[in-house]
Amino acid sequence: MRTPRTVRIYGVTYKVKVVSTEEIETTTGGEALGFADRDKKEILLAEGQEPHVLEDTFVHECWHARLAESGVEDLIASHFDEDTAYRVIEAIVRNLTTAELREKKRK
Ligand SMILES: [Zn+2]
Repeated sequence: MRTPRTVRIYGVTYKVKVVSTEEIETTTGGEALGFADRDKKEILLAEGQEPHVLEDTFVHECWHARLAESGVEDLIASHFDEDTAYRVIEAIVRNLTTAELREKKRK
């Protein structure tokens, strides 16, 4: 899967940008592989990640953007119950079927 240029989160379009690690650090104030910017409606992904890692980072940041757009903004930085929700989002962004998702879980 290539990360798309935009992704719609609850009807809100986020731009997906691969940027330098320096830009991520400037934006987040620390080291991170990605960042969901709820104000700019951007998902930033640090360059230089292996493709499969970049995909995981993208899915991860979609989770944060989802929290930002879902009316539970106070939980934007939360990873509570992330495993379950992560897999739901992953299924959406990767267009996985239920069977594929189950197969993935067994690994
Ligand atoms: Zn996170």
